[in-house]
Amino acid sequence: MKTCSRCQKTRVVQITLDDNLDACGHTFTAQLPAERCGACGLVVIHGENVRKFEQRVAVEIAKAGLRSKEAFRYLRTASKFSVEELASLLDVSPEFIGYWESGDWPVDPRANSVLISLVLGQFDGKQSALDCLSVLREPRTLTRKVRLHIHDAMAQAAKALQFGSAARTAPALA
Ligand SMILES: [Zn+2]
Repeated sequence: MKTCSRCQKTRVVQITLDDNLDACGHTFTAQLPAERCGACGLVVIHGENVRKFEQRVAVEIAKAGLRSKEAFRYLRTASKFSVEELASLLDVSPEFIGYWESGDWPVDPRANSVLISLVLGQFDGKQSALDCLSVLREPRTLTRKVRLHIHDAMAQAAKALQFGSAARTAPALA
């Protein structure tokens, strides 16, 4: 059995508890796995689960399409982009990010939708938005004659249509 980091007794048990996270004017609640010491009562939530919760909140904020300075900053930090990284992907100077996040400028809707795509792609493990932006930065060579495989492409397109949207779970090209 695990030893408590505070009282050193071996009475740590696995529990689940409701945890709250306040972000962008909303309170998000989720049940998280945790450990509680039966002797001293110390409750420990592992950082990995807190991180998952934060990422899940980011997905909700992204799906709601919130366009506010708070939402922009939350999405950027939850998806672990530095100001410089995101500025580079958006092809703007890093100061722009600062102006949007401080409210000096209204958040640019195009920048916001790119950031939303990045957040949803990160959650789905599909980095299509990031790939597109990277390709623009470093174009790949396209040969003059290109053979394509239509059937694979149809399957890929069907998957792409399901991307990040509960409303489109039925494949449009089935
Ligand atoms: Zn203890």
